[in-house]
Amino acid sequence: MREYAFELRLCAHLETADVPGVGDASVVSRQLGTSVHASGGRIVDTVCVLPGPEFGDRVALTSDTVPPAVLDTDVPIGEYERVTRVFDGPPERARSLADAGAKTGFLDVTRRDGQQVVRQTTRYPDWVGGLIGVENKPDLGRPGDLERQMRHDASLGVLDYAVVATESHVTRAHLNRLPDDVGVWRVDFDREDPVEVIRAPERLDSTGPGLEVLDEHAARTDVRPVTAGEKARQRRRVVERAYGKGWRTFDLPACARVSTGDGDTPLPCCEHFGRVVDPASECGDECPGFEAADAPDVDLDAERERRTPWERDAGGRRRQAGLDQF
Ligand code: SF4
Repeated sequence: MREYAFELRLCAHLETADVPGVGDASVVSRQLGTSVHASGGRIVDTVCVLPGPEFGDRVALTSDTVPPAVLDTDVPIGEYERVTRVFDGPPERARSLADAGAKTGFLDVTRRDGQQVVRQTTRYPDWVGGLIGVENKPDLGRPGDLERQMRHDASLGVLDYAVVATESHVTRAHLNRLPDDVGVWRVDFDREDPVEVIRAPERLDSTGPGLEVLDEHAARTDVRPVTAGEKARQRRRVVERAYGKGWRTFDLPACARVSTGDGDTPLPCCEHFGRVVDPASECGDECPGFEAADAPDVDLDAERERRTPWERDAGGRRRQAGLDQF
């Protein structure tokens, strides 16, 4: 199976089943960056977030991602403060950040004495109970950069657990090439319970400092220390992005050959190729099987809401709808 199809099917499964041996993932997302120093460095295929004690408050807060730069700033709760005093940098940046936070409903922005002022509408909730990253390698015969990726995850520790998921038969040699903390799942979607745990992941040190693997050469590995504070900030970015993004990041194409498949949740299935396709890279009028038609009428947000605690109209979205009435 191609990696894209494998990834979507695994996301669909993890959304409604437990992460084996770890817990119930309330949020599943895909393709999220976890590097602290190397921007655009490590992109984790599938990210699962376990609910923490105030998960319900996060659900009610907003259906979108609270902008990371807003969360990195001490915005007062209750008392208004001038936007330009709260956010560093030029006034345009400060206003833009305040507006972005207000759109989600996390910030309240208004005018007082001719000045734009801001406050937090609520305390940011303690909503994360754990963070699991899954690297999808359906075919271990074509591992690509797998070993370096897993060394990165294990030594950095932005995640609580790191796992490799594959369709391949897993040998002792495969396991030996991965850090001991990294778990391995063998996945077969034809089975009733598709995930077989070959090796359970060990909990990583996500609260202390870590080392980020930046580059590897024949005789040396370049690493950079990461403080506990930097890790905490990056974790918050990852979980917020996961919450707002989810995993249904595809649009179904306007092609007569696409269907939503016969699984529990719609996937972009192509009758011409007989498999799940990646609409962003495979669909369009240059595809040999393309036949123009209306795209299937599928509401992917409604589907996420039906299958998970996520609420599409929470916080900013609802607030915006209210504002639109005036
Ligand atoms: S555009 Fe091509 S790949 Fe996409 S659904 Fe149509 S036939 Fe399939």
